[in-house]
Amino acid sequence: MSASGVNACVVSVGNELLFGETVDTNSAWMGRALASRGITIVRRYTVADLAEEIRHAVREASGLADLVIVSGGLGPTSDDITRPSVAELVGAPLEVDEVLLQRLRERFEACGYGELPALNVSQAEVPRGARILHNPRGTAPGLAMRFSDTWLVLLPGVPRELRAIFGGELSEFLELEFGDRTLSVSHRTVHTTGVPESRLAELIEAAFARAPAISELAPDVSVAYLPDLRGVDLRLTTRGLQADAADAQLSHVLDRLEPVVEPWRFHATSGDIVESVSGALRSRRMRLATAESCTAGLIATRLTDLPRASEIFVGGVVAYENAVKQALLEVPEDMLVRHGAVSEAVAVQMATGVARSLAADVGVAVTGIAGPGGGTDEKPVGTVWLAVSGLGRPTSEHIRFVGDRQAVRERAAQAAFALLLRSLQPRP
Ligand code: AMP
Ligand code: MG
Repeated sequence: MSASGVNACVVSVGNELLFGETVDTNSAWMGRALASRGITIVRRYTVADLAEEIRHAVREASGLADLVIVSGGLGPTSDDITRPSVAELVGAPLEVDEVLLQRLRERFEACGYGELPALNVSQAEVPRGARILHNPRGTAPGLAMRFSDTWLVLLPGVPRELRAIFGGELSEFLELEFGDRTLSVSHRTVHTTGVPESRLAELIEAAFARAPAISELAPDVSVAYLPDLRGVDLRLTTRGLQADAADAQLSHVLDRLEPVVEPWRFHATSGDIVESVSGALRSRRMRLATAESCTAGLIATRLTDLPRASEIFVGGVVAYENAVKQALLEVPEDMLVRHGAVSEAVAVQMATGVARSLAADVGVAVTGIAGPGGGTDEKPVGTVWLAVSGLGRPTSEHIRFVGDRQAVRERAAQAAFALLLRSLQPRP
């Protein structure tokens, strides 16, 4: 057991997890849940429904951690063998728990299934001395037992049951057993889009190097870069500090970072830039229309994922073929011939045209080459033009995205939101 902090291992049991038929969402979910309680996950295991494999992983994990949580294999059928395998490892015989058995019977009757099948009786078997963690959503309870210096916890694999036990009696149990030793964790997240991770890291490291006081005044802040297709989140973390001290250190670093990330930063509690765009439209009482070629509705979809979208969104045109750009967005034929469909002139006209034909205040347009075919030397795959009209002079942007078709489309939609946000909130 480490002097400060609590270490945990997570063991996922199930053949289907190894075959890739089921994605192991339990480990990810528990990773977040444990980390947010200040418990450090030091290793994860995924093993087959085989007694020897389960015992091997649990034995090894117990040597590493104060807490080992095993998920899966607690079902009533013969392929679920976590319970007897672990009972054998810890040297505790399985015994039927009468209270549990009675609860199981009642649950079966209440569900209208009649008498409890013999197979389910195994779910009332508990390694001698184990603590039972009530399962409000199913028949297999969680179990907690000692194994030398470690607490071993078994949870059912069904994600909604695992989460219910975790959020209920397991939480109370963890607080009781480890509460005084867990390190409190505080986070602040800064969302950015439109800047590569490496560039951002370079700028931030340079800013830190210019101001050595940052590390002196905030020695416990660690910075993580979390990139995905839509942008890079910066996550600042402190561990093991009182709330006031954590707050002071995090604020100190944030203040220094602000001017560095300002050109790409957006504010959104959900982490989705659509939230900021939607807020900016709302506060200006404006409604938007979309004209999308290569993104074909991605922007409209993301806007309408939010409730009350009709207050900020009028509608959109998927203008895939040139004929549609001409007929519905008033793009003149000679403009298409002269500049090509992927051009600044066409993007601006698409944005202006859609705002006019759908009677919106603001129009946004995307036209580009998502690939894998269709690129030329002059306009390679990934070339995208974006435009926004209705907020003073139309603004446009040319970006060459890298990545496959899906990446180009996703990045183009995100860049369109970023351009919208900049146009809605002109910076001084
Ligand atoms: P079990 O407890 O092994 O009987 O699993 C019951 C159900 O939960 C099955 O449908 C599994 O595919 C699913 N399941 C088991 N382990 C996991 C896991 N780690 N992540 C997501 N689902 C799981
Ligand atoms: Mg299973």
